[in-house]
Amino acid sequence: MRSQGSLTSSLRHLRAIATRAKYSFSTSTSTSFDLFNPTPEHSALRQLVRSFAETEVEAQALEFNRSETFNLPLFRKLGGLGLLGVNIDPAYGGSGMDATAAVIATEELASADPAFCVSYSVHSALFANNLQINGNDEQRQRFLPRACAGDVIGGIAMTEPHAGTDVFGMKTFAKPSADGRHFLLTGTKLYITNGTLDGKTTGDVFIVYAKTDNTAKDGGLTSFLVEKGMPGFSLGQKIEDKCGMRASPTAELVFDDVRVPRENIVGEQGGAALCLMRNFEIERLCIAAASLGIARRSIEVMSAYAQQRRAFGQPIANFGQVQKAIAESYAEFMAGRSYVYDVARRLDLRSYGNGLDADGVKLFAAPMAKRVADRAIQVLGGNGYVGEYVVERLWRDSRLLEIAGGTNEAHHKNMMRDIKRLRGRIE
Ligand SMILES: Cc1cc2nc3c(=O)[nH]c(=O)nc-3n(C[C@H](O)[C@H](O)[C@H](O)COP(=O)(O)OP(=O)(O)OC[C@H]3O[C@@H](n4cnc5c(N)ncnc54)[C@H](O)[C@@H]3O)c2cc1C
Repeated sequence: MRSQGSLTSSLRHLRAIATRAKYSFSTSTSTSFDLFNPTPEHSALRQLVRSFAETEVEAQALEFNRSETFNLPLFRKLGGLGLLGVNIDPAYGGSGMDATAAVIATEELASADPAFCVSYSVHSALFANNLQINGNDEQRQRFLPRACAGDVIGGIAMTEPHAGTDVFGMKTFAKPSADGRHFLLTGTKLYITNGTLDGKTTGDVFIVYAKTDNTAKDGGLTSFLVEKGMPGFSLGQKIEDKCGMRASPTAELVFDDVRVPRENIVGEQGGAALCLMRNFEIERLCIAAASLGIARRSIEVMSAYAQQRRAFGQPIANFGQVQKAIAESYAEFMAGRSYVYDVARRLDLRSYGNGLDADGVKLFAAPMAKRVADRAIQVLGGNGYVGEYVVERLWRDSRLLEIAGGTNEAHHKNMMRDIKRLRGRIE
């Protein structure tokens, strides 16, 4: 077991080399290339996060799941480790790494506590990445150093009570103020991760999507930075009693004529559809990565249990049906893992155009994680149904991954649209 001191020093080393982490595949041979850890920097990152997840994240997961509360002090520690800005430019306090690094961090955190990991992904992959890519330099300076340090926790607000999959059906509207220096934002957002951190007040800062033009053909969406304390911005409610991801706070947020300065527009006025599409790719990839963490942990738990648990005078691992559950889970996990890391390798965070596979990895990996966690419960029998044995929590957590960030059905729809564009040819 590694101490926190050695973790921090490995991170210092990691940060130093992360600035030159633009790795080249041309120097890799087929025998030395490791898809899951393509460079020494990625291996170091995996070791760092795995060690932190096994020692600190695992230790609190059951308690925070039961109390449905968010472990804010532990979350802030991720900032000290350089994980909250894993993809953010070192000029803004980040670690400057690539999409593969985000996938590694997410897979490792999710293997210990998928709920803690969801809050992490929304903050780092969605909020911070979105701002880095779509925001301007003044906004990056204003928010990213604090976000990377864990001093402010971010979220993304798209979904509304009447519009989720149909994102362009949102009703939240922002109209310019009389002096033209502000927008007045009115509407309600539902199911917002990190929407509250304490259950009583709003979370810290959000990129909020709103209509600014009801007639525009491209949806007329604009995104705004909205901060805690802005008059008219309040917590509607904390969403309690979720099936899973109970340690990740989810909230309804209310905007009542919130005066948002024009400088808080992220990207172009009316141009948020593009921000949305860019952000969906890393979001879906990270959800697929969280699925990998759930599946891997479920396989580890069920295979260890099957070798130790005896029935009819022998380990249950000797029974063909148990072998089938474990072997099929492993093969499906590895197929998903290869797909996810291959898409991560090709994903350029600064552009977009990987939509088909960003949908594809999530469509494959999320149901895979649920299936594997379900088999793990079955292999553990009665014990599998009890919180202490972890897999029932993983199974409940896995359920969200088929809904949030795009439902399975939304992926079918998007993928068919993109597959049509291939004109019958897959390169
Ligand atoms: C715990 C949690 C955290 C979340 N975090 C966030 C967050 O941080 N930010 C945020 O903005 N949102 C967040 N969400 C919202 C999430 O992204 C939405 O729930 C999701 O996009 C689905 O939208 P919906 O719930 O409105 O379902 P709906 O869109 O109403 O869908 C209901 C059903 O109809 C199906 N359906 C809809 N349209 C079609 C179609 N065209 N073809 C076929 N089937 C269709 C759907 O697939 C689904 O099965 C979160 C949700 C949860 C539960």
